[in-house]
Amino acid sequence: MHTLHAQNVVLGAGAMGSAAAYHLARRGEPILLLEQFALGHDRGSSHGAARIARHSYADPRYARLMLDAFRAWKELEADAGQNLYLRTGGVSLCPPGVDYVAQVALSLQAIGVPHRRTTGRELHRAWPVFDVPDDTDVVFEPDAGTLAAARAVAVQVELARALGGERTQVLEHCPVRRIDLEADRPTLLTDAHRIIADRLIVTAGAWTRQLVPNFPVPLRPTRQQVLYFRPPDPATFAPGQFPVFFRKGEGDWNDFYAMPAVTGWGVKVARHGGPDVDPDAVDRTIGDEYRATVRQFLRSHLPSLAAAPIDRTEVCLYTMAPHEQFRVGLLNGRPDVLVASPCSGHGFKFSCLVGRVLADLTLLGRTDLAIDLWRIEPV
Ligand SMILES: Cc1cc2nc3c(=O)[nH]c(=O)nc-3n(C[C@H](O)[C@H](O)[C@H](O)COP(=O)(O)OP(=O)(O)OC[C@H]3O[C@@H](n4cnc5c(N)ncnc54)[C@H](O)[C@@H]3O)c2cc1C
Repeated sequence: MHTLHAQNVVLGAGAMGSAAAYHLARRGEPILLLEQFALGHDRGSSHGAARIARHSYADPRYARLMLDAFRAWKELEADAGQNLYLRTGGVSLCPPGVDYVAQVALSLQAIGVPHRRTTGRELHRAWPVFDVPDDTDVVFEPDAGTLAAARAVAVQVELARALGGERTQVLEHCPVRRIDLEADRPTLLTDAHRIIADRLIVTAGAWTRQLVPNFPVPLRPTRQQVLYFRPPDPATFAPGQFPVFFRKGEGDWNDFYAMPAVTGWGVKVARHGGPDVDPDAVDRTIGDEYRATVRQFLRSHLPSLAAAPIDRTEVCLYTMAPHEQFRVGLLNGRPDVLVASPCSGHGFKFSCLVGRVLADLTLLGRTDLAIDLWRIEPV
């Protein structure tokens, strides 16, 4: 067992860990970034080509934080010299009686983001591929779009290396077996190392609970299934011709989302929500039942896709927290351990900002961002 000492250890190189490493390197801090698999793997929550980014939140606090998040993405794009964000426009919809679009419209109004409240009839007029009941509640946000997910993670690790030089160490295929939180300093045990950290940032996604068993918030890894459809008329689903969209339904497991064919893999469609899963034993196949569920949804929303061939499938993990609230902050009783669990299926768009928050909290012990709603406290 080699004993290593490191000033800043970031555990997990997904969207949150790569962002933390990038922001720490940007401030000249030495980093040791640990990843159990290969960088860019497809076992966690951040793989795949694209994620939806939008201000459209029913909770105005998240909508307002997206103003900061979009600024953080712009900074990253400038540092990287490449675009990661594609503006496509976005619609949020729900059936009458579901109090979602009304809240989203209020949030967008409150933060001064351009939007247009409309109906299912108007939606069909604007985008004939949509065929929903006329009285469907709809809000359109022109600034919504997609983020290049896997590329953003890779770019942040590359920048952490480029900005940090030798001060940035990255260990792949290096699973942390245990974190000793009883020791004077957070001590990580891997198969070959005993790593003593001055400061530890845990961004372990669906594995957070395993690594921090006394985490005061219940975190549930769930299995998400994604389908990529080959549209009969690709032009009608191309970026600029088809918006990202999120449909809030009644009850559980009745929310669906989709995005234009930004990846060349077809139109990404999926249900928001899935069964609990052990992150170390995930079934990576997608059964007929789920495919039928998504096709049924498409029949009542995007009928031209309902019978379209599925070109590609993807399985991915959410880490669900109560009320889909993020949890980011110091672990109770340890001023030298930060934990970030900002997922619940909507964390990617905030990841670059979460990276900045983690660097602030690590180096300054505070941040000027309004993240009180993300504090870690027992529920
Ligand atoms: C299908 C799907 C669609 C989504 N769509 C959207 C969307 O449209 N918009 C949006 O904003 N968000 C979306 N999200 C959510 C978003 O992708 C996640 O919130 C985000 O990627 C979480 O990043 P993370 O870094 O916390 O997790 P991960 O990317 O899983 O990173 C955790 C890392 O820690 C590593 N790790 C864990 N344990 C150990 C260990 N013991 N030792 C070493 N390394 C370890 C893991 O291997 C992993 O690489 C979606 C998620 C899924 C699954």
